[in-house]
Amino acid sequence: MDPITLALLGGAVLLLAATGSKGGSSGKPAWPIINKYAQQVPDRTYRPANAFGASRPYSEDYNCYRTHGGIDLAGDEGDVLVAMENGTIAATQGWGGPTSKALLLQTDRGPVLLYGAIAPNSWKEFKLEVGSKVKKGQPIARLGVYPQGSTMLHFEKYEKGVKTNAVWCEDRPKPAKMIDPTDYLKSASNYYDKKVS
Ligand SMILES: [Zn+2]
Repeated sequence: MDPITLALLGGAVLLLAATGSKGGSSGKPAWPIINKYAQQVPDRTYRPANAFGASRPYSEDYNCYRTHGGIDLAGDEGDVLVAMENGTIAATQGWGGPTSKALLLQTDRGPVLLYGAIAPNSWKEFKLEVGSKVKKGQPIARLGVYPQGSTMLHFEKYEKGVKTNAVWCEDRPKPAKMIDPTDYLKSASNYYDKKVS
């Protein structure tokens, strides 16, 4: 699909924001969400509750206290998510409840990127399905809403070939194929290192 068609589908401004001056051909991954919020990565010092490895409440489903296996980025319902790299839509899956899903992108370079919680079927707006090839910066889905009413991009990273998420329990080792996405997100072209209020 060519960029003009995409612009018509996803909004010209959004596409330009995704692939604009600092992104594009730099070789760096694109920032995964397009919105008004600070493009800063939660870590031990900035929004630690949203960082990789943060403690999570007890889960009846998994019979353990969970550990946060991803990073949460601020967002509103309907915000456009973009492919951070060239790749292929590897899978979609349930995520948190009936109002939200996750999408897994197998990058050409190797790692798998998980985007949740996205609006069910929102990839279809961009004419995508499992197996579709996407380019860096291309819109792939829209942010959805967790059943509890919260909205955020929950982002995970895995080794090549993973097609579903893994759950990390506090008293167990990190799942073998799960990768800490902190440095990867910080390497994105639009990331900046200053706190913006
Ligand atoms: Zn999260």
